[in-house]
Amino acid sequence: MPLEADASADVAVIGAGIAGCAVAYALAREGAKVIVLERDAIASAASGRNGGFILAGVVENWVAACRRFGADAARRVWQVTITDRALLRAAAGREGIECDLAWNGSEQLAGDGEEWAEIRESAEQLRALGHRVAVDEAARRVTFEEDGEMHPARFVRGLADAAERLGARFHEGTPVARVGPAAVTAAGGTVTAASVVSCANAYTRHLIADTRIAPVRGQMLATAPIGRRIFPRPVYAHRGFRYWRQTRDGRVLVGGWRNTALEAEVGEDATPTDAVQRHLDAFLSEHGVRAPVTHRWAGIMGFSHDGLPYIGRRADGVYVLAGFTGHGNAFAMAGGAIIATLIRRGSHPDADLFDPDRP
Ligand SMILES: Cc1cc2nc3c(=O)[nH]c(=O)nc-3n(C[C@H](O)[C@H](O)[C@H](O)COP(=O)(O)OP(=O)(O)OC[C@H]3O[C@@H](n4cnc5c(N)ncnc54)[C@H](O)[C@@H]3O)c2cc1C
Repeated sequence: MPLEADASADVAVIGAGIAGCAVAYALAREGAKVIVLERDAIASAASGRNGGFILAGVVENWVAACRRFGADAARRVWQVTITDRALLRAAAGREGIECDLAWNGSEQLAGDGEEWAEIRESAEQLRALGHRVAVDEAARRVTFEEDGEMHPARFVRGLADAAERLGARFHEGTPVARVGPAAVTAAGGTVTAASVVSCANAYTRHLIADTRIAPVRGQMLATAPIGRRIFPRPVYAHRGFRYWRQTRDGRVLVGGWRNTALEAEVGEDATPTDAVQRHLDAFLSEHGVRAPVTHRWAGIMGFSHDGLPYIGRRADGVYVLAGFTGHGNAFAMAGGAIIATLIRRGSHPDADLFDPDRP
């Protein structure tokens, strides 16, 4: 129900995607009074439109991530995503969220020899760090055995329901116009709150002028269910630019190919294009999938400047949890827990990794 009058809370959250719902759930479990303001509907944006992959780590492979962040920071970032997996799994179990959650692992395929060398080396190094990783040299394929998949919209709606049962209030159809340090002005009223958390992701720039989050479009399609299982687990290929999996009911989901139209695939227009969709169709033909395509869609991701999300308190006293750079299912639950701890205690041992004001 939309907000219809001024209200007050301990924490006001803007946006009810996986990030906003994760924050609301973490805080409501601790007894905080939370109000979530969503301009459209719960999981209506990227969180309800994604592939449902739950992958450890960032968009880059481990070797590339070590190069960019340093090995120690990369190890800590991977650990956060492993914590995230555990939080997601625990919340789904505790709250009885029906979202086809499965833990069959994920596969990574290289687009060229250079990427294969990195993926292979990544597998060796991650194995040495205790991760369960299998290398198939002949197929040039690595399997990360602990990764998962889910129906993302069902998970997020279930998480919102759980937060609501714990006392959080959700106002859908309530666009926020202004974010202040201790108040949020929305259609229908002002919410006064000691803490404000912005989870508007790709749309943050309309609320916070100096954000570095860039809107980037991702596209997918889904076929009708097919009777045979072609893809036993999610596949992530060509440095994450191509991905596919088969749902529990047999549909083939294919997404990506953004790199074929990099300059066009930016901005907030969530309309699929022929230029990208024809690559997704070609993938189906190449793999002998003849079932009709029943759904085509696009969603808008929020990219950060360095591939890590922004999780923390900004200088203006507003908290932010956003900028997942295509990996929100890997970070949002842990991010929600970090934000909840920052609000309660003022510090968190991993907050330095994701500082929204980092260079
Ligand atoms: C096609 C596609 C495939 C993807 N595949 C994967 C995948 O397999 N695995 C993975 O981990 N990630 C994937 N991602 C990325 C993932 O979807 C995102 O990282 C994640 O959903 C971001 O969650 P969020 O809650 O931050 O943002 P969103 O889900 O975008 O939610 C932000 C919410 O804020 C609301 N909002 C915005 N402005 C306002 C305002 N002014 N007032 C009130 N509300 C507002 C919006 O309506 C929206 O509901 C994919 C993304 C796309 C588009």
